[in-house]
Amino acid sequence: MAACIFCKIIRGEIPSMKIFESEKTLAFLDIGPISKGHSLVIPKFHGAKLHDIPDEQLAEVLSVAKRIAIAQGVEDYNILQNNGRIAHQVVDHVHFHMIPKPNETEGLGIGWPTQ
Ligand code: 5GP
Repeated sequence: MAACIFCKIIRGEIPSMKIFESEKTLAFLDIGPISKGHSLVIPKFHGAKLHDIPDEQLAEVLSVAKRIAIAQGVEDYNILQNNGRIAHQVVDHVHFHMIPKPNETEGLGIGWPTQ
């Protein structure tokens, strides 16, 4: 979708710190992280709400989030999807927040980019 900010990130028209990309899925660091290493995992298929996205376009999302957690070396994290304004969705392209909650004995993997 031409005006969608996340579609612009997918097309490379807006810069982002991409951390995973496949045919159907993109993950990149959140520009306003609420914890170190906060990333967004999105289907490339444009849709505002979860129910707008065909199942096959969503199939990779959780496994990508899991792989990010493994790469970051975190075992505590939140995966969050805000769906609709009342649920605090701001960007109208489905996205899953991957929010690491590192503690003193865990870390974000050495060399992990954090903006
Ligand atoms: P929402 O409230 O819609 O679930 O969250 C949208 C998220 O997108 C926010 O955490 C915000 O920081 C992030 N965001 C908004 N615009 C951009 C952008 O241009 N680049 C990146 N990397 N993240 C963005």
